Amino acid sequence: MDALSSNIASVCPLGFSNTGGEMFLRAVTTMIAAHCSIINDSEWPDDRTEAVIKKSNVGESYDFIIVGAGTAGTLVASQLSNINPTWSILLVEAGDNPDILSEVPAFLFLNQNKKNDWKYKVEPNGKSCLGFKDNTCIWSKGKCMGGSSSINAMIYIRGHPEDFTSWGKSWDYDALLPYFEKQEKLLNISDHGHVDDNKWYEIIREAWKELNFSFHKNQNNEAVIGTRRAKLLIKEGKRFNTGKVYLQRASKQMDIIKNAHVEKIIIDSVQKKAIGVKIRLENGHVFDIMASKEVILSAGSIATPQLLMLSGIGPEDHLTEKDIPCILNLPVVGTVKMGDDSVVDFNLLVRGLNNLRVVDASIMPSIPGANVMATTLAIAQKAVDIIKLRHSKDEL
Ligand SMILES: Cc1cc2nc3c(=O)[nH]c(=O)nc-3n(C[C@H](O)[C@H](O)[C@H](O)COP(=O)(O)OP(=O)(O)OC[C@H]3O[C@@H](n4cnc5c(N)ncnc54)[C@H](O)[C@@H]3O)c2cc1C
Repeated sequence: MDALSSNIASVCPLGFSNTGGEMFLRAVTTMIAAHCSIINDSEWPDDRTEAVIKKSNVGESYDFIIVGAGTAGTLVASQLSNINPTWSILLVEAGDNPDILSEVPAFLFLNQNKKNDWKYKVEPNGKSCLGFKDNTCIWSKGKCMGGSSSINAMIYIRGHPEDFTSWGKSWDYDALLPYFEKQEKLLNISDHGHVDDNKWYEIIREAWKELNFSFHKNQNNEAVIGTRRAKLLIKEGKRFNTGKVYLQRASKQMDIIKNAHVEKIIIDSVQKKAIGVKIRLENGHVFDIMASKEVILSAGSIATPQLLMLSGIGPEDHLTEKDIPCILNLPVVGTVKMGDDSVVDFNLLVRGLNNLRVVDASIMPSIPGANVMATTLAIAQKAVDIIKLRHSKDEL
């Protein structure tokens, strides 16, 4: 208190010794303490940029490079790091640790159009954003550790089983169910997220009943029409950030670099395989780092297709128009759909290329009717099993 008092006195010559002054200082100290209890950078892993540059300079490679420390990327990186202690893993994130706006659930909308948001601008199309200036609006996507899960509305919902019917036998609801259940157990999701003492809840529930909508329990995922209480990823008043939770469980052999933008996937076009990535740091430094087993794209539903196209994978006409040599002519039309005639196969590997996998929301063959964070996490959980199986076989 004395140090704070003398610091304040050096910029403000008023006395702080009387009761009013003391109370003011206490209020300031309480606010600073509250700030620290809400946000704590040490809960996120350290940045290892210098060590990674050194490795790059001496030609050292990683087994796996994961692009994007978002919803899917943090889960995949963390779980892979715990499968085999000899596997080296690099996780590359374009943003930094999320700021205090991310931690406070009620500040949800303040995250948009700010530092933790990519602030993508939608092209005017005459059909949407008509109420906005120039008929364009911002399409938010998280640009920070935890990705969009650090700025989203925190609703956790699996989606209806029929949403997944068109995904193919190995990815339908029954196939995904163990992965939904696994993550819900790992994150103890059923234990938090409900505000029980809200007097409005019963009133709203009665209103829905009057309209003949039935009420369903959360476990009842088969219910098509009706109401249920939303599960929110909130714990002890703060955002329950799955990225933070998973990274805290990662093994120490994983390196993470932040504020590092992957510009391109490095492809050996003769052997038709991904061999590394080109990274640009905020200070302009550009370097290459190689991956011996896989490059995994988890940059999200806008950046993953963009990165593929910048690397020469996409519709040939479009790439030619943009002066990008086409390495693989694939229907990347804004997403990286999984399917028989699509961009990635059912193991999420990019068709026609070795060692390049996509694990994020962009692989969804059709968009579920519910919000998609839970599904993205389930996709990532299943991908970990697929990757484990492939490389455990290789190493036998
Ligand atoms: C405002 C908002 C509210 C939402 N609300 C909900 C909700 O309540 N419930 C729900 O279920 N879903 C919600 N969603 C959707 C859900 O959060 C996303 O669909 C999901 O988190 C996507 O996960 P992802 O892993 O595909 O991508 P992301 O979580 O977006 O991760 C991608 C990561 O890659 C990084 N990256 C991108 N490009 C590069 C690059 N070139 N180099 C390095 N790193 C890169 C990004 O910075 C980011 O960290 C919401 C989304 C938004 C934006």
